[in-house]
Amino acid sequence: MSIELPEARIFAEQMQEALPGKRIESIDSHDMKRMLGLGVCKEHLFDFGSIVGRTVKAITARGNTIRIKMRGGFNIVHGPEYGGRIRLVQPGEKGPKYHLKLEFSDSSVLSMRNTGMGVIYALKDEHLHESYLYKRDFQGGLSPTDPEFTWDKFKILVGEENRQLKPLLVGMDAFVTGISNATFQDVLFRAKVHPKTKARALSEEQLKGLYDGIQHVIGERLKLGGKERFTDLYGKPGEYVAAMGPNYKNRECPNCGTTIKKLAHGGGHVYLCPSCQTE
Ligand SMILES: [Zn+2]
Repeated sequence: MSIELPEARIFAEQMQEALPGKRIESIDSHDMKRMLGLGVCKEHLFDFGSIVGRTVKAITARGNTIRIKMRGGFNIVHGPEYGGRIRLVQPGEKGPKYHLKLEFSDSSVLSMRNTGMGVIYALKDEHLHESYLYKRDFQGGLSPTDPEFTWDKFKILVGEENRQLKPLLVGMDAFVTGISNATFQDVLFRAKVHPKTKARALSEEQLKGLYDGIQHVIGERLKLGGKERFTDLYGKPGEYVAAMGPNYKNRECPNCGTTIKKLAHGGGHVYLCPSCQTE
């Protein structure tokens, strides 16, 4: 289950409440070599030894990526892109499996793990731009939670493009940051738009449906503690259920009864209703 904008933000807000001022006493990591093999990154991005003894300053998230900022210009960048878990473990409590574990001087522990493709880096401020995810999310497109993410702007940025929707909404060059495949299929179903439609071919009503859909899905997921199967910093599960996605496999469309179809699209799969979402 991917971590997208709402879930990354929930983690960051909870960590911001709990972690600033805590000093890192020790660290431990597991399987980092394997992660290095999976990610497009450099060895020095894993210099975790340099964060021991540092104090946590602030935690922020943008898009799907979380930044733990420490005093002295050091950071941990965590992008649990295709699934991940972060848990704050209190002294005496048994912690879950981890890729990176930070033990603080008050004996509480931050446990971080990726359950799918993703990264955890230790980076100095001046190397942040070398992280693909940091660059994409912190320096990339507009976030649906930015005040600048207005209908007028969306209409121009996305609506005038003669390209299919996925690269405009998902990935490195997208105009919107924080959306992965899960939100993409959820939003398209709500807006009754076929994924292969080119943005410029959309009616104003469909385009507005996409814009409203993005805001609705992000807003609801923040309100409901993330999507189902997500668990927050304290292990509390989210309650948002997607309107479309793998949970609709072999099921019927709730609007019209047509069997839901799985379509290979844009380097992944998109579930859709072939009747409600026509090309
Ligand atoms: Zn339908």
